[in-house]
Amino acid sequence: MPIPHPAPDDLQWQTRLLRAGHAPAFEGGHAVNPPLVRASTVLFDNVAQQREMRARRGGERLFTYGARGTPTTFALEDAVSELEGGYRTRLFPTGLAAIGMSLLAYLKPGDHVLMSDSVYEPARHLAHSFLAPYGIRCTFFNADGSDAESLMEPATRLVYAEAPGSLVYEMCDLPRLAEMAHARGALLAADNTWGSGCQYRPLALGADISIMAATKYLSGHADVMMGTVCTTQAAWQPLAERSDAFGMTVSPDDAWLVMRGLRTLSARLQMHERHALRVAGWLQARPEVATVFCPALPDDPGHALWLRDCSGTNGLLSFELRREFDVPAAERLIDGLSLFGLGASWGGFESLATLADMTRARSVTDWRARGPVIRLHIGLESPDDLMDDLDRAFGSLRC
Ligand SMILES: *Cc1c(COP(=O)(O)O)cnc(C)c1O
Repeated sequence: MPIPHPAPDDLQWQTRLLRAGHAPAFEGGHAVNPPLVRASTVLFDNVAQQREMRARRGGERLFTYGARGTPTTFALEDAVSELEGGYRTRLFPTGLAAIGMSLLAYLKPGDHVLMSDSVYEPARHLAHSFLAPYGIRCTFFNADGSDAESLMEPATRLVYAEAPGSLVYEMCDLPRLAEMAHARGALLAADNTWGSGCQYRPLALGADISIMAATKYLSGHADVMMGTVCTTQAAWQPLAERSDAFGMTVSPDDAWLVMRGLRTLSARLQMHERHALRVAGWLQARPEVATVFCPALPDDPGHALWLRDCSGTNGLLSFELRREFDVPAAERLIDGLSLFGLGASWGGFESLATLADMTRARSVTDWRARGPVIRLHIGLESPDDLMDDLDRAFGSLRC
């Protein structure tokens, strides 16, 4: 009697269980959003295909291994490249990891980097704690860029800017920095977390590398961490090679969440801007306030550059109390708030307040003679409620 050819039904249940769900694509239409694809292993049809994919993946974006991305993360990369107006994008587990990997991709021991005094503080920490012992020297230039040219050295390979700057939002002339860097054979990188690819577009202004903490406005809901780096075509290869070498990747679930956040980015930013400008005007009229920092305000030192280079502002506002108020008074004000959360990070839908230690955050500009600075993130709540809350909290300044 011939032995029957084993039909799928004859397979053991353990085997059938593992083969179930290998469904072909659905007939019909397709979903609006890219599917969530989780993968470590990626299967090939045959050895020749596997060999070919491995040979090509250095230069092309191919689905070959989970750490090199999945269709979900590729979709987000493309969306960020679109937003930034760049060639391609890599994703990183945090904004800080994106900064760190950019520094490592474009600098080697013996090089010099010029960094803005306005950088996100952990980037400054990275320069002191890692770059310096690793043999990469770093000099900080004034946040307005005025002394950058005089600080360029023959070994300067990278100029690293952040505009508007962290905490008090200094503007600098990015096209001028780009021209200066390129004339000396250096690249220009910019932290574009403030601009989120909407309000500011460093690559269009001459930068080679634009970095964002997608943790902030791109995700928009205070529940996911991610960083992005988008570059021009000419600057792409070192970043791609270095992040592959270090196994840098993100969870597709997180990429899916950021993608969902991106869909409403422009609508949220317009609302953050509207609310923040109302609160800014209210703060400027308060007798306790010395300065409100926001480049969209006509008396801000960066206003002319903001008008030229930005298409709007966001929910970020900082204000300096008059010198008669000390840090404990500023702390009482923050503790007196009930609608503002006390926390770092920003870019979610909710309002936040935190004390900004400017004397620690700047080394070129001396802040010691100035009043305490409070950083606000104005969320999507009613600005009337937020101003009522601030009004009550200002009452606790003089206790
Ligand atoms: C928050 C922030 C980062 C870092 O992002 P994380 O995802 O928190 O690591 C980098 N740059 C700027 C300007 C930021 O505000």
